[in-house]
Amino acid sequence: MIVAAIEAGGTKFVLGLAKSDDEGSSPPELLFRETIPTTYPDETIGRSADILKAAGARFGKPEALGIGCFGPVELREGHAAWGHVTSTPKPGWRGADVAGPLGAALGLEAVFDTDVNAAAAGEGRWGAGRGLADFIYVTVGTGIGGGIVSGGRLVHGTAHPELGHFKPAKLADDGYAGYCPYHGDCFEGLASGPAIGARWGRRGEDLPATHPAWEMEAAYLARAFAAFACILAPERIILGGGVGMKAGLAERVSTLVTEELKGYLGWLDEASSRQAFVVRPVLGANAGLLGAAALAVEGYGRPKPRR
Ligand code: ZN
Repeated sequence: MIVAAIEAGGTKFVLGLAKSDDEGSSPPELLFRETIPTTYPDETIGRSADILKAAGARFGKPEALGIGCFGPVELREGHAAWGHVTSTPKPGWRGADVAGPLGAALGLEAVFDTDVNAAAAGEGRWGAGRGLADFIYVTVGTGIGGGIVSGGRLVHGTAHPELGHFKPAKLADDGYAGYCPYHGDCFEGLASGPAIGARWGRRGEDLPATHPAWEMEAAYLARAFAAFACILAPERIILGGGVGMKAGLAERVSTLVTEELKGYLGWLDEASSRQAFVVRPVLGANAGLLGAAALAVEGYGRPKPRR
């Protein structure tokens, strides 16, 4: 089965055609991949549709379409704005319909979700969450977001979770007010890449591994992940993103989460003894595209909305 996959990001759209085996158990072969810059909706979406149609004529017509989109997005089934980007500050994109015109152009009903839910779907199907019914994918980079798989299904709630915007308890020795324009010292406000840069006056990638910034980062991630463990009881947390994939960070956070919870969650200690509770993603450079392909392959955990 050939599927069309779109990683719809705020700075670039990555377009692909992937060939999935019948069972979809091994990562699909990428037949085609092209990246275009994200400009304005009409131009970017029109170009994406043209490119995928031409690729379909060459490699075989796709049977399903998956889109992992930057957000926030409207995901409520039956809502008039389903498949649209909602309140983004990105010029021209507020209220832009992404799923509708792409699906119409390819003659397919799009499986549409957030970029982080797509990443969770991809890691669940082919990566670090494979075989697990309960895990969380968290990305820490310019922002913080995450996708939750619970009981084998992506969690949407009323819309989609915003893991980056709850408030962890602040560390006593942290005088930084926080970066989030809405909440100040929420998780993203304290632990995203821009927060590290603002707090220490240097970008994270310029701070050596021995700099105290990293122990503070690990401590905030551990506080957040301890809360996720208490609320959702995931078997594993996959830590991705430009900051999250810093060498050694996942291992350190793993240790701190178990220390923080003081042996109270028996399953956590059992899970941690089998494998680190916090791990790095495994899908690498094509994770976004493979995530969108995973959405297409199985409509991961979500029935197609009635339109
Ligand atoms: Zn916030």
